Amino acid sequence: MPPLGAGRALPHIHAMSLPPGFLDELRSRTSLAQVVGRKVMWDTRKSNQGRGDMWAPCPFHQEKTASFHVDDRKGFYYCFGCHAKGDAIGFVRETENVDFIEAVRILAAEAGMTVPERDPAAQQKADRRSELFEVMEMAVRHFRLGLQTAAGAAARDYLDGRGLGPEARERFELGFAADGWQGLWDHLTGRGVAARDILDCGLARPSRKGGDPYDTFRNRIIFPIRDGRGRCIAFGGRAMDPDDSAKYLNSPDTELFDKSRMLYNLAPAREAAGKGAPLIVAEGYMDVIALVEAGFGAAVAPLGTAVTAEQLQMLWRISDEPVIALDGDTAGLRAAWRVIDLALPLLEAGKSLRFALMPQGLDPDDVLRRQGPRALQAVLDGALPMVDLLWRRETEGRQVDSPERRAALDKVLNEAVARIRDPAIRHHYGQAIRDLRWRHFNQGRQRSAPGARRGGKAAMAPVRGETRASLPPRAATRSRPICARR
Ligand SMILES: [Zn+2]
Repeated sequence: MPPLGAGRALPHIHAMSLPPGFLDELRSRTSLAQVVGRKVMWDTRKSNQGRGDMWAPCPFHQEKTASFHVDDRKGFYYCFGCHAKGDAIGFVRETENVDFIEAVRILAAEAGMTVPERDPAAQQKADRRSELFEVMEMAVRHFRLGLQTAAGAAARDYLDGRGLGPEARERFELGFAADGWQGLWDHLTGRGVAARDILDCGLARPSRKGGDPYDTFRNRIIFPIRDGRGRCIAFGGRAMDPDDSAKYLNSPDTELFDKSRMLYNLAPAREAAGKGAPLIVAEGYMDVIALVEAGFGAAVAPLGTAVTAEQLQMLWRISDEPVIALDGDTAGLRAAWRVIDLALPLLEAGKSLRFALMPQGLDPDDVLRRQGPRALQAVLDGALPMVDLLWRRETEGRQVDSPERRAALDKVLNEAVARIRDPAIRHHYGQAIRDLRWRHFNQGRQRSAPGARRGGKAAMAPVRGETRASLPPRAATRSRPICARR
């Protein structure tokens, strides 16, 4: 039987982690005939040692004849019986049952070569990143101290007013960037940090007037953003000045930070979700902090962008059914529509989303402060499945009082369902849409056409109750509407 993986091509991914030329050097110093000779009995009559042309019974399959050939000059072997083939590294892998890098180590030791732990370029990059991480931690400490100073008094007052006392500030490592052009810059350069490192961390921006770079964050409350391993990779800043053009500002993308692939509060949320807390996706840091403080520990938020496909996949790795918490206004609904468009093609069995729509004009933080955690829990409990929101989006504001208009509605619904790649889920969506459509047209719903429900939470709660109360009788469900028959 041919050995598994015999003749496997060189795994370039491993080869690339060695310095260039290392493997060539190793091969030129290694005699394949010598390596193979420890495992086989050469057929001396058939072999020609002087020309490096060696034959033996194959070590990879049972045979009495010598059909295993080694070309020592080229460093390759080939078996005419079982077609095993490869070089010295492959031979050691197969016969010693070790991985690529281990085989390289064995051969290198015999050849008197040392395998460097890592490719210098990769090592340099890792060193570079750890340098930048250190600079980020220095910035965290600087901002946090800033919140204790006299200059941070207004920021402390603001946080107190939002119910974020010293304990919450400690937990989220909140800080304050004073209202100057070079506060952090002077602090870091004064401690020997290179200008380039500060710029590469996104903590300062180059001056266009030829002066020193200036701080990215000025007169802002600072939220350190940490990655899944707890390393600070960016900052978020909330403006203290109500006239500031950007209420919230995040670090620019850097070597450490890719905003489309990161979520605020990721690591703590993953841990809380692992203990059973519902994974909630809020809009911003303040919502996340309020949620966590109220006991909803598995809360995350995207960082200044709409939810991305990468973030959806991150969420699904943590929970099968994350709940998207949306502000109770039209912007919140528009955000939901975007997420639906993004999620439809990505849906897989067992992975979905729910949408918790806050009461009109409120965000999760408002709900918690005005109505308390129980009210928020009720909103979460009433979170709508994605299919309900999809229906709502396509029907809202649409007049369906003629056959033509109904046909147009069917078309958009069918198109939306068709975007689901997973056939089983597509089937169930079709079914659910048919049910919703049946309810809509067969129970005199036209009088309160969906358009009448436009805009807002006040209207939304009744919709939820209504949906439950108005399930069509079972017998009726069987008479399928024309809608989804394609
Ligand atoms: Zn063989």
